[in-house]
Amino acid sequence: MHRFFLPASFAELMTITGKDAHPISHVLRMKVGQQLQIVSNDQVSALMEIEAITEAVVSVRLVEKLAAFNEPSVRIILAQGLPKSDKMDFIVQKAVEMGVSEIIPVAMDNCVVQLDTEKARKKTERWQKIVEEAAKQSKREIVPQVSRPLTLKQLLVLKQGVKLKIVAYEVEDRRGLKELLQSQKSVKEILLLIGPEGGISKEELDLLKEGGMTSVSLGKRILRTETAGLATVAAILYETGDFGG
Ligand code: SAM
Repeated sequence: MHRFFLPASFAELMTITGKDAHPISHVLRMKVGQQLQIVSNDQVSALMEIEAITEAVVSVRLVEKLAAFNEPSVRIILAQGLPKSDKMDFIVQKAVEMGVSEIIPVAMDNCVVQLDTEKARKKTERWQKIVEEAAKQSKREIVPQVSRPLTLKQLLVLKQGVKLKIVAYEVEDRRGLKELLQSQKSVKEILLLIGPEGGISKEELDLLKEGGMTSVSLGKRILRTETAGLATVAAILYETGDFGG
């Protein structure tokens, strides 16, 4: 069943226009009477029936709201130290499949990649497109947002209200992820920071701790940056029961 994310609040009668209308009429060649799924930007999922269709506009009417809510019980914000080459494409895609709700690329001391404003804009646009495709494929109820790259200071200010702020720190050897998660069972939103290939500098860690972040170890093995975030997200979702219960 095809699923479309509509940039509008839910209504019993809705219209699909722009970049989604054309594929419905011309690529999928759907007809009046056929059904499709929509997700509104106020996170309502519904089965809808096509009432009218032209190349530019598709009118759909509610058949039934879809109870299944595919989103995890915890909102995970992945702050990812900008990795080399196109690793971020992979990280973004997999993070959305796993259930991450927001992705923030972070320019850090040891990032090889330094993006100027124009490059950052283009990259963010590219990553957002990857997010939208991954959200459709994985039947998410929302389209996670990729922000433009931030500095650590900007991240800490923007997300200061998040109750549980975790930094996976490769030098940490006292506190593990499980211990931290089990001490925070009721938390509904988590900020997770992963460093780039070159790791997190001591100065950055001091800044992060001042900003209320808790460092955790992911074990004795050093994970690649593209592994660390996904492994940690998986562990969090396992702990919250969002891996099938
Ligand atoms: N340059 C670092 C080194 O050689 O120790 C490795 C950095 S690692 C490739 C990239 C990021 O993944 C780290 O900054 C951290 O956020 C996370 N990471 C990888 N392995 C980890 C571990 N065992 N414990 C905690 N964080 C880890």
